[in-house]
Amino acid sequence: MPRLLNPPEIDWREDGTPVARAHDDVYFTAGDGLAESRAVFLAGCGLPQAWRGRDVFTVAETGFGTGLNFLALWQLWETHRPSPTARLHFVSFEAFPLQPEDAVRALDSWAELEELAALMIARWPGPAKGVRRMVWPDAGVSLTLHQGDIRDTLPAAQFHADAWFLDGFSPAKNEDMWGTWIYPQLAAHSVPGARLGTFTVAGAVRRGLAGAGFDVTRQPGHGRKRERLEAALATPSPSSAPTPDPHATACAPPGIRRIAIIGAGIAGASAARALMDAGAEITVFDSASHPASGASGNPLALLMPRLDAADTVQARLLVDAYIAARDTYRGLPGVTETDVRQIPKDQAETDRFTKLLTDPPLPLEDLEALRGGGLLHKRALILRPALLIPALLAGATLRMGEAADIDIPQRMVNGERFDAIILATAMAAGDLLPWLGLEARLGQIEWITDAPVAGPDAVASGTYALAAGTDRLWGATFERFDGGLPATSDAARAENAEGLENLSPWWIREAREHAATSRAGLRATTADRLPLIGAVPDHAAALEVFDGVRKGRPADMDAPQLPGIYMVNGFGARGFTWGPWAGGILAAQLMGGPAPAEAAALVAVSPMRLILRALKRGEA
Ligand code: SAM
Repeated sequence: MPRLLNPPEIDWREDGTPVARAHDDVYFTAGDGLAESRAVFLAGCGLPQAWRGRDVFTVAETGFGTGLNFLALWQLWETHRPSPTARLHFVSFEAFPLQPEDAVRALDSWAELEELAALMIARWPGPAKGVRRMVWPDAGVSLTLHQGDIRDTLPAAQFHADAWFLDGFSPAKNEDMWGTWIYPQLAAHSVPGARLGTFTVAGAVRRGLAGAGFDVTRQPGHGRKRERLEAALATPSPSSAPTPDPHATACAPPGIRRIAIIGAGIAGASAARALMDAGAEITVFDSASHPASGASGNPLALLMPRLDAADTVQARLLVDAYIAARDTYRGLPGVTETDVRQIPKDQAETDRFTKLLTDPPLPLEDLEALRGGGLLHKRALILRPALLIPALLAGATLRMGEAADIDIPQRMVNGERFDAIILATAMAAGDLLPWLGLEARLGQIEWITDAPVAGPDAVASGTYALAAGTDRLWGATFERFDGGLPATSDAARAENAEGLENLSPWWIREAREHAATSRAGLRATTADRLPLIGAVPDHAAALEVFDGVRKGRPADMDAPQLPGIYMVNGFGARGFTWGPWAGGILAAQLMGGPAPAEAAALVAVSPMRLILRALKRGEA
């Protein structure tokens, strides 16, 4: 399947009913779609009664389509939210994402949904395959959309639904979505007792559900349909029994509310934002006098994608992270859209660009080939961390200038107890957790503030240069660092000047005519260049529990954890790319709800991977 999904071709019946040409089936019946959605899915899953008294409730759907079911659910949530702090998570699957204008047209029949539809359409995802997460914090609603064929994306997704809406066209017209493979997957992604509603009473569906452990009943159908199905997952159900969690990627037990975050750089700030949006109370500790004083504190930063030619988990999570970062930052203070010209730095990169353009991961709105071999990244962002990071932290209690004294077993910071602690301390995390093996890299940039007004503009080729207003910034180095305090150096300045020479005559002139200031920061880096996001394992206990891994046995037990201790680290030179995506993962792990990433991605960034890898290699 290509990395860009094809929008469906839609035929519009006279009454406004949208019909998917390829499947020759309707999304819903115009005029009656909302009433049907309420009868089949909302009432069919026992809503709103089913979420009474719940702090977190997750509804899953097969086939997102126009988002009508999502809006019907959201509307019910507005009037029947169980408490002002309760959270509703909706997770859905779509292989043929509608163009936003088609969704608008389809939803046009329902004036009562107009406001919610506008909120949804404003965040409508593009056609890139992957996992998109949208949050409306005031409403307490999130939408996690797995874009791709559901045969791949549902088995790869990590969540447990309290209710299921089965809405993937008629089974006779869409075997892909209703094949026998799906029923055990529905059960495996459900809590015991989960409810399910669907419009079809097809025998294969009834048998499939029953075989996977659901109790299935026929109910009087809506409108002209004679019958519909309701089902509930029997309790206990063998197919929804918990599986071992050797990478500690599962959600924490419920009840976490007060969270301490140590570190007010981009890692801590974006975790704070995502967790506050999920309903947490956040206190941020940092020994510096103001946020973003470490590596995140350069005067300007560039958010651009790192694109790989192959469609691997790593390549996908980089695209997901980039899109999550862009969606989060857009509209915040200190954020400016820019084009970035990326010139291949060598033949290998030229070849990589050529290959990736045969199956581009981003649409033409974001990515074009440049004549002569480069890439043009559109809608990338120039960021001013001094404005952006405080904006992300808005609403958190800031304890700046306070070095954090952390008592891990008691979950206390400076004598105060929290439900959870997140370590977002870059290299300093190595003092508490030396087994992380973090490696410091020194990143130096050069900066001038008095150039003629220009930009926004950006060019990259291994190194990068940014122009915004009277500011110019270029760099950055990525040197091994052997200790002491990070300091700027003439050698790094010369390296940055050389990088600029290869980029553009305009920048060279600007750099020569103005006195530049250098700034250096330490970037915490992992050996595999992926970040560390998630629960902190109990290292000594993990070595014991997984001793068999040294001898080639599988890691088939839960990882021992330091209860309530989480981390976000290892961002290397891509802090602003990783931050919001990492924050979303932590928000799901600590506060409940679907993970905004495929399970393999959660494993790839889990701190536990380092221990299991070391055991496998005989290095632990
Ligand atoms: N729930 C939708 C709504 O509220 O508008 C209507 C869903 S429509 C009946 C079925 C949806 O399933 C379509 O959007 C279709 O593109 C999607 N679909 C069909 N086959 C799929 C597959 N193999 N993987 C993912 N989505 C698929």
